[in-house]
Amino acid sequence: MTEPIACTGCGAILQTEDEKAPGFAPAAALESEMPLCRRCFRLRNYNEIQPVPLTDDDFLKILNTVGDSKGLVVYVVDIFDFNGSWIPGLHRFAGKNPVLLVGNKVDLLPKSVKEQKLKNWMKAEAKKLGLHAEDVLLVSSFKGTGIGQAIEEIDRLREGGDVFVVGCTNVGKSTFINRIIKQVAGEGDIITTSHFPGTTLDMIDIPLDDGKSIFDTPGIINHHQMAHYLDPSELKAITPKKEIKPKVFQLNEGQTLFLGGLSRFDYLQGGRTAFTVHISNALEIHRTKLENADSLYSRHLGEMLAPPSGKSLEGFPRLVRHEFSIKEGKTDIVISGLGWITVQQPGKVIAVHAPEGVEVMLRPSLI
Ligand code: GDP
Repeated sequence: MTEPIACTGCGAILQTEDEKAPGFAPAAALESEMPLCRRCFRLRNYNEIQPVPLTDDDFLKILNTVGDSKGLVVYVVDIFDFNGSWIPGLHRFAGKNPVLLVGNKVDLLPKSVKEQKLKNWMKAEAKKLGLHAEDVLLVSSFKGTGIGQAIEEIDRLREGGDVFVVGCTNVGKSTFINRIIKQVAGEGDIITTSHFPGTTLDMIDIPLDDGKSIFDTPGIINHHQMAHYLDPSELKAITPKKEIKPKVFQLNEGQTLFLGGLSRFDYLQGGRTAFTVHISNALEIHRTKLENADSLYSRHLGEMLAPPSGKSLEGFPRLVRHEFSIKEGKTDIVISGLGWITVQQPGKVIAVHAPEGVEVMLRPSLI
């Protein structure tokens, strides 16, 4: 067996097999005198950070370090996957440190959405989950929307201290930090890495003017995220880069909508009414009769009803049924990681079938 080679940047053991795991490097990099993993290479040469997932254990160690340090915790979540972005117990790890909640991917929201309503909902959900957020901001790291305000808020709330940016994988944390680096630091060669105590993983240290730093912590994989059930090309289809176009369906009782093969919406009771579907424009919606829905799903999953298809069919979980009776006003039925369906009027009974582990919940309509 050959000796393991460690990355001279972060100390991770280099490997050439798994692009997504720590220490990945192209084979040629292993020949170098100062071998670097791809992540450190990109950081050194382009000042660009790349996401790297890590084990739950390492992640907990890192979070403990954050709790023991004094500073502002910037918690990045995906507004389309609020629950899938949630780090359980974060409030405990944050300790006494203030938390700024940043909802990313605001560019995907249709114009009809009232941002204040979304912020209020996020703040209330966070509170339910035990986290007091000092403030909630909405940004598009992709387009740069709200980044200036985020920088100002970070500067105000950190009160001269360090900043720790945390988040699950896929929420856009790397894109967020890269934006901040470009805006705060310009393109200069200022980023360094240092080790998290007790782990092989580095944290990225972006120095601030007053000697303090912004630390990027590696992302944790939340296994309930819809994202982990799909392959990368399918994931692209369900997380679009473009603003969502709401689609209105007039349904009778006993009709079903399939959202690709990922979820199913059954209209059970309440007379003919309109529902507005807010999901990726790329995902096909099929309407059918409720009585045919089970057999349609078993016959056409992976073909007409896709994604999932091909390889991702193998590990795809069964759909679990969630029934809701809509009592008040306009209500959104939120399917974490996918989008939401607005029920225009109260007094309707609905069932949503979503992959096991994926959260389905109600919230007051954002429109
Ligand atoms: P990380 O794993 O949290 O570091 O996430 P990345 O920064 O790698 O982003 C995950 C995915 O979300 C990528 O496909 C990004 O292009 C996309 N993404 C990140 N930020 C935004 C955003 O503001 N809007 C949109 N539409 N997509 C984004």
